[in-house]
Amino acid sequence: MKITAIKTSTMNVPNGPPVSEYYATNTYIVARIETDADLQGLGYTMLVGGFGARSVRAYLEESLIPLMIGEDPRDTGRLWQKMYENDRGIRKKGVPVYAISAIDIGLWDILAKSVEQPVWRLLGAHGDKVPVYGSGGFLPYTVDQIVTEAEGFRALGCRHYKFKLGRPNLMENVERVRDVRKALGDDVEILVDANQRWDVATNIRVANQLEDCALYWYEEPVLADNIAQCAEVARAIVTPVATGENEYTRYGFRDLIDQKAAQFLNPDIHRCGGFSEMMKIAHLAAAYDVQIAPHLVPELSIHVLASIPNAALVEFLAGSPDDLWVDPPEIVDGMMTPPERPGHGMQFSPEAIARYTA
Ligand SMILES: [Mg+2]
Repeated sequence: MKITAIKTSTMNVPNGPPVSEYYATNTYIVARIETDADLQGLGYTMLVGGFGARSVRAYLEESLIPLMIGEDPRDTGRLWQKMYENDRGIRKKGVPVYAISAIDIGLWDILAKSVEQPVWRLLGAHGDKVPVYGSGGFLPYTVDQIVTEAEGFRALGCRHYKFKLGRPNLMENVERVRDVRKALGDDVEILVDANQRWDVATNIRVANQLEDCALYWYEEPVLADNIAQCAEVARAIVTPVATGENEYTRYGFRDLIDQKAAQFLNPDIHRCGGFSEMMKIAHLAAAYDVQIAPHLVPELSIHVLASIPNAALVEFLAGSPDDLWVDPPEIVDGMMTPPERPGHGMQFSPEAIARYTA
């Protein structure tokens, strides 16, 4: 089997509230991989807010697609390495890895379709469902709005809910968490996310005030570039730290693990290197009993989570558009099950393609 063409396109997908308060659209860079065997693969990567999207598409078209034409798409490991090693002048963080991820996701789609199996079964199935956590609770929300959103997820059976820290008045953050904990009771685990907003001292002050709330995790306390500082926070607070949505490849995650920066890792399949690399990251973490809870992209992350021993949770963000996909995986009794369809099982809906393609 040979790759005959890879066709790229850009889709600007509007966010509903509450995400739209921050980012009007997310941009999908799509890579449709065509073969001489009548099989197609859908690769795609998502840029939150659209930042960097044109650069990712340019890197795909200029640096990666020429490497792929004529190759056997089923050689996922070799082709990942070929993309990774193609140039030595750009470190594989940021834009190039978003692009590599898109191609890798499309290659796995073809490989799995070629043997008529879902991707998760080829990755080494461990289970067939994973608990979902509801994610949202944006900073403009009142406590009542946070509780209402959390109750909505609880009604779907979800037992974990995440909301944001980062209001300018520090004690207000502490009081919001306490109020939410009181309103939800003890049968919902609470996760908080600082989105890299604070320095080490501020995080420690806030987290120490929250010890009695028994939080499930404390996410992205400091700038993602500064792993040593994240580790400093992790050492100083009782709540487990989660991080990794802004980290790239096995090497970045090795550094997080080496420095004991987090007890939960949040790789994003569009940023960390696709299915191939996320599996390596998950297996590396398993050797340290570190758990995996991927950032966003539940429709693809669920394949990895169903295939590893150290799966924690899959993230489901409030406000994601619901007309984007044909038959996306749904939350049933708080759990998500990966599709049985061959490949990764995802297709953009014809309406979405017509409406959002730039
Ligand atoms: Mg986060």
